[in-house]
Amino acid sequence: MSLNIEELARANVRALTPYQSARRLGGNGDVWLNANEFPLPVPFELSQQTLNRYPECQPKIVIERYAAYAGLTPEQVLVSRGADEGIELLMRAFCEPGKDAILFCPPTYGMYSVSAETIGIEYRTVAALDDWQLNLPAIADQLDGVKVVYMCSPNNPTGNLINPDDIRKLLDMTAGKALLVADEAYIEFCPEATLASWLQEYPHLVILRTLSKAFALAGLRCGFTLANKPVIDLLMKVIAPYPLATPVADVAGQALSEQGIALMRQHVAELNANRAWLFEQLPQISVVQQVFPSETNYILARFTDSPKVFKTLWDQGIILRDQNKNPGLAGCLRISIGTREECERLIAALQALSVEQA
Ligand code: PMP
Repeated sequence: MSLNIEELARANVRALTPYQSARRLGGNGDVWLNANEFPLPVPFELSQQTLNRYPECQPKIVIERYAAYAGLTPEQVLVSRGADEGIELLMRAFCEPGKDAILFCPPTYGMYSVSAETIGIEYRTVAALDDWQLNLPAIADQLDGVKVVYMCSPNNPTGNLINPDDIRKLLDMTAGKALLVADEAYIEFCPEATLASWLQEYPHLVILRTLSKAFALAGLRCGFTLANKPVIDLLMKVIAPYPLATPVADVAGQALSEQGIALMRQHVAELNANRAWLFEQLPQISVVQQVFPSETNYILARFTDSPKVFKTLWDQGIILRDQNKNPGLAGCLRISIGTREECERLIAALQALSVEQA
């Protein structure tokens, strides 16, 4: 009898559509504007020659430096393999598969649902309002049995911040029942909006951060979960024994040094200037219907014929992120902010397309 390996797998894994990361989608580009990465590499040298030894589970210097950077104490910080691991650790520590649920508000980051499906946890969605703010009454109706609410601010892929007054209401609504996880992957592009100081007031608030965006280290795979000690202690029970390779901790420590943080801030200023330039240019192009405000290193825009724009630019090696099938985002493409030259190439390609269509 032949063994059908597929049938051996868990039912939810058989049914799972894996996350379509930019790398999995592929493409043959030289202008990569599809993964919200920093456009240029930052050089680092490895200082540790101790690969015969296992690494520290929570490297002290990384934790201390991140805590200082975030204005928190070391016991409020957990480091993991990207913010993606933080998203999953929260579900594994707080949600009983088959019983508890998570909730989030699409359109938003795709890994909340993928992690829930992988682990076998129900996920509930409450569509964001037309201005992509929270639909609080609809969330209140759906909270029964929900253990973790994921809220992305600034939101990927729309680029907007969530209103702080609404976040307070959501924190009141979830108090004693569920965690509210604020995904701040892009917070360095609007640092004044962080909720880090709110941790003093709310024991059920959790914040996710990453070195993948403003710190220009997507390839490092290093992210942070910020929360009060009782939450961190529970996550420490389920995290892998050695979540960070020694070279990862080595580079993360350097990135979080005073010079590393200063360099990150300089990069943010450059990208924000390029974003302002794109905001001037994009509305002047006839195939661009609407440009949404952004507090991040990407811009969401709606096009008259987005599949054609996507394909034409793809063929020229300019790779954007298609959002056409995302709820509420018909005709939309997400554009990561690149170097000034990359932004200029994008605008030139869109202008050529507009002339062709005129
Ligand atoms: N949250 C959001 C909103 C993101 O866009 C991303 C990166 N795509 C992540 C979390 C995951 O970041 P990391 O690279 O640290 O896993």
